[in-house]
Amino acid sequence: MKNFNSYRVFKRNEREPNPDGEYVLYWMQINRRFHYNFALEYAVGWANKLGKPLLILEAFSCDYPWATDRSHTFMMQGMKEHLEYATDLDLNYISFVEEKAGQYDKLLRNLASNASLLLTDEYPVFIMRKRNEQYPKEMIIPYITVDSNGLIPLGLTDKDPYSAYFFRKIMQKNFIEAFTNPPKRNPLDDLENRQQVDLPEAFFENIPDAENALYNIPGFISKLNIDHSVKPIDWQGGRSAGLGMMGQFIKNGLLEYDEKRNDPDEQKTSQLSPWLHFGKVSEYEIVKAVLDHQPDGWDLDKITFNKGSTGGFFNGNPNIDGFLDEVITWREVGFHFAHHRADYDRIDSLPDWVQKTMDEHRDDPREWVYSYDELKNSQTHDEIWNAAQTQLREEGIIHNYLRMLWGKKVIEWTPDYETAAQYLIDLNNTYAIDGRDPNSYSGIFWCLGRFDRAWQERPIFGKLRYMTSESTRKKVKLKEYLNRYGKQKSLL
Ligand SMILES: Cc1cc2nc3c(=O)[nH]c(=O)nc-3n(C[C@H](O)[C@H](O)[C@H](O)COP(=O)(O)OP(=O)(O)OC[C@H]3O[C@@H](n4cnc5c(N)ncnc54)[C@H](O)[C@@H]3O)c2cc1C
Repeated sequence: MKNFNSYRVFKRNEREPNPDGEYVLYWMQINRRFHYNFALEYAVGWANKLGKPLLILEAFSCDYPWATDRSHTFMMQGMKEHLEYATDLDLNYISFVEEKAGQYDKLLRNLASNASLLLTDEYPVFIMRKRNEQYPKEMIIPYITVDSNGLIPLGLTDKDPYSAYFFRKIMQKNFIEAFTNPPKRNPLDDLENRQQVDLPEAFFENIPDAENALYNIPGFISKLNIDHSVKPIDWQGGRSAGLGMMGQFIKNGLLEYDEKRNDPDEQKTSQLSPWLHFGKVSEYEIVKAVLDHQPDGWDLDKITFNKGSTGGFFNGNPNIDGFLDEVITWREVGFHFAHHRADYDRIDSLPDWVQKTMDEHRDDPREWVYSYDELKNSQTHDEIWNAAQTQLREEGIIHNYLRMLWGKKVIEWTPDYETAAQYLIDLNNTYAIDGRDPNSYSGIFWCLGRFDRAWQERPIFGKLRYMTSESTRKKVKLKEYLNRYGKQKSLL
């Protein structure tokens, strides 16, 4: 039988390891952590197999889509923490933040030219997906991607899941196997060859000094050609802040999650998505930490395969079980979808019933039509929507429940479905600190029918699920939320 975690490994070309290579190169692209990281673990395994040292490259480009001060700051805070960690441990670690487009690519190719083999993170969307398709064709060493994104390996599904229910069945069948084959807490402990790697100075010609950049983040960022109007947020981007948030949630939110997660005034959700997005905290360690809080006597034997239904699988505390369904099923269904679908960010990827209902309602009159700028600046007639957009613009996040309403309303207020999708992608990926993630596309395209079923027909939406601000106001606690974000009003 195939080793369970081998479903995480993707050989991206047919090259043989370069015997003269001086090291194994691990290029940390998105799962930016030294702990619980399968890709790092595989890289250590390869270094040991070839008897070579390991060189870790963690870099950040300056010309990625939707680049802002917000995403740059969060990412660089995490890199600073890593630089300190790697220096303490004397690791072969290169930290690099690009100042001018092209520097990153040049450094990567230079480092690959002296390597035996390259391993990097498997990731199904955004620039990482494109890089992982392009570089293996051009490199003369093996290019291997390793999936450390979630519990259920991406290589385990053979097609895109059409619903959360369908994926939940796969998750339930494989949960125990996945959970009992975890990533190592500290994969670097196993590294055998600890020799220092000497790199030619020429590799670093015209490359900005990372230390200067990371110890002066605002100053460095101010010189970059990125969107400076999107300000950094209060949350810190490093792993320690992510673990701190996890601890807070377990202490204050977890045991009330099911009951209060939809109430913006309560703020009982984990708020972990930013650190999950940048790979600072692994999904495995969250699941493990949360399972440790199941009632006394709970263990894995309590789990029963439940054919994809939400209840009756973990058979523990309903709050914990509810949270696990979000962080495993709902988070991972989007990763698996994008893994199988290059069109994950396009309307064409939506199921037939959605295409049909959209065609039937394409020309329905729209009572309100807003421009991108009006939406961006919270200038609609809808108080709740404006508050959600203000939270997104100012704080880089929207409360979980309101995010659905936020997405649904844009469908009603734009001339066509394609414009709605584009505005949502641009707003989300520009302002959300957890944006540019497989779940950005799951969430936005869920509003447009992905993973959902047909509902009662109505204007504009056709058979898409409909949400109104009036029913939201009745259903969830919002008073303080509106006081806080409604007060800031729109940017007039
Ligand atoms: C229009 C729209 C856009 C979205 N954009 C993003 C995005 O850019 N990045 C992002 O990570 N999520 C996105 N989501 C999904 C979801 O809203 C967020 O993951 C969640 O709000 C994050 O808050 P939390 O960490 O407090 O969640 P919690 O409720 O504490 O859940 C824990 C984790 O489970 C996962 N999760 C929870 N709900 C969902 C969901 N509905 N779909 C997928 N995963 C989920 C997330 O990883 C989350 O961090 C979007 C949803 C919608 C409707």
